[in-house]
Amino acid sequence: MTNRALINVDYTYDFVADEGKLTTGKPGQAIEKRIVELTKEFSAGGDYVVFAIDAHNEGDKHHPESRLFPPHNIVGTAGRQLYGELAELYATISQSENVYYFDKTRYSAFAGTDLEIKLRERGIGEVHLIGVCTDICILHTAVDAYNKGFKIVVHQDAVASFNQAGHEWALGHFKNSLGAKVV
Ligand code: ZN
Repeated sequence: MTNRALINVDYTYDFVADEGKLTTGKPGQAIEKRIVELTKEFSAGGDYVVFAIDAHNEGDKHHPESRLFPPHNIVGTAGRQLYGELAELYATISQSENVYYFDKTRYSAFAGTDLEIKLRERGIGEVHLIGVCTDICILHTAVDAYNKGFKIVVHQDAVASFNQAGHEWALGHFKNSLGAKVV
């Protein structure tokens, strides 16, 4: 049996809270309980639990997102903190050797990070994706996972977007084009 990892993507104030800088709003807030539940379940089961969290620098004119989105998840701001109960849970598990929090600067959790190395050295062949946004960071992470040969599971009750049509399209794409299990 292959080992599995849970990948928490971008569940921070800027992406979830009403006053967040690039918020998914109500759909994002609606998945809080499920995200916490899954994170607890994987953590308690000894699975690898990853937090891949967007990190931007104030006024970074070289970053392609600067032309596409308002500034968000700026390093050192409250907007970059994990949202709600997930922050509380993270505080209780952060010292575990099975928990890994890292910064990402692109949509995909694999882009410019050591995530793949961490997964391979643990014999992990299956990644479970939760967080936001379904059709941006979850999608790009899933595409990279697919190209690298990981099995993919997307928890549809634990992903959300500010774009409902994009959310629904992405769920179909995970299943039909990336061979993911959408559960
Ligand atoms: Zn970003």
